[in-house]
Amino acid sequence: MEDTKIDALRGRIDEINQGLLDLLSERAQIVQEIGFEKEKQGVPKFDPMREKSMLDALVIRNTGPFEDDTIRHLFKQIFQASLSLQQTEHKKQLLVSRKRQQADTIIQLGSAAIGGSKPVMIAGPCSVESYKQVRAVAAALKSAGVTVMRGGAFKPRTSPYDFQGLGLEGLQILKEVADEFGLQTISEIVDPAHIETAGQYIDVIQIGARNMHNFELLKAAGEVRMPILLKRGLSATIDEFLHAAEYILSRGNTQVMLIERGIRTYERATRNTLDISAVPILKQESHLPVLVDVTHSTGRKDIFAPCAKAALAAGADGIMVEVHPNPPTALSDAQQQLTIEEFNQFYAAIQRSGLL
Ligand code: PEP
Ligand code: MN
Repeated sequence: MEDTKIDALRGRIDEINQGLLDLLSERAQIVQEIGFEKEKQGVPKFDPMREKSMLDALVIRNTGPFEDDTIRHLFKQIFQASLSLQQTEHKKQLLVSRKRQQADTIIQLGSAAIGGSKPVMIAGPCSVESYKQVRAVAAALKSAGVTVMRGGAFKPRTSPYDFQGLGLEGLQILKEVADEFGLQTISEIVDPAHIETAGQYIDVIQIGARNMHNFELLKAAGEVRMPILLKRGLSATIDEFLHAAEYILSRGNTQVMLIERGIRTYERATRNTLDISAVPILKQESHLPVLVDVTHSTGRKDIFAPCAKAALAAGADGIMVEVHPNPPTALSDAQQQLTIEEFNQFYAAIQRSGLL
């Protein structure tokens, strides 16, 4: 072919490309409008029947030279790009999203500002076992300068025959000790019926990994106006984790902190696999504070310190760790709780790193 002929045909191709681009952009705008409408009506974005009928109609009208399969493939790409456009729009609209709120959410817990410029240390026993036990930990935390204490009163145990926690009595112990030492407290609540009364005893309600998908509990947590510490589910994706937080925010409670606590993988060298990458991803995608629980994620005291440093270097707003006055006698997680002395060494090592 002569060059002039090729040039002319190429000119025509350029025009068609422009026409296709204009049509694709116009189509994308309509897709977005449909997405907003579907969002309002609460109907799913992906409609396989509609896709199938559009593809069938196109193939019937296909006169070549493309094969029917090629037409299906090309249009399927357009449909997929349209769906992800709707999903990106959906994410931007989430209350947890950084696109919706640029500024970091800061949760004030006494003198600690979680999500602020200074990361916090949260420590305490796995379970509240007795007044004496909690008091011993509280005294140690106070003298180390730690102001937020954790302690489980309602324990979601794997076996029904294991210690289930002291329940309400456990919350009362936390309150008594926290009042004496001027500490802020965090404890897990597992029953939606206890969410409202929890505020009389503790400062932060923890929703545990096993309950991250308990939507009635999340809704109840959204109804109160106190901080919620939401743990990542055992096998939850980051997207599922953020949507669980969205349940709480969507009911008006904006004081939510996210905590990575390890996920299930094939690896057995640690109790769970600490997903460090979740920290910067959550910080990018959401304005909520992000903490890391080094105890439940690793289950290994020997690597708490490097993992805590890695978490802080990755941008975590705080660390949670379990401490017990006499771990071998602990009624839960005996293997993985630090003694008071070990905690002091751990805390000093993190402070020396300059990350806290
Ligand atoms: C806890 O923090 O007490 C606890 C039970 O952890 P998780 O829900 O992460 O297993
Ligand atoms: Mn524990």
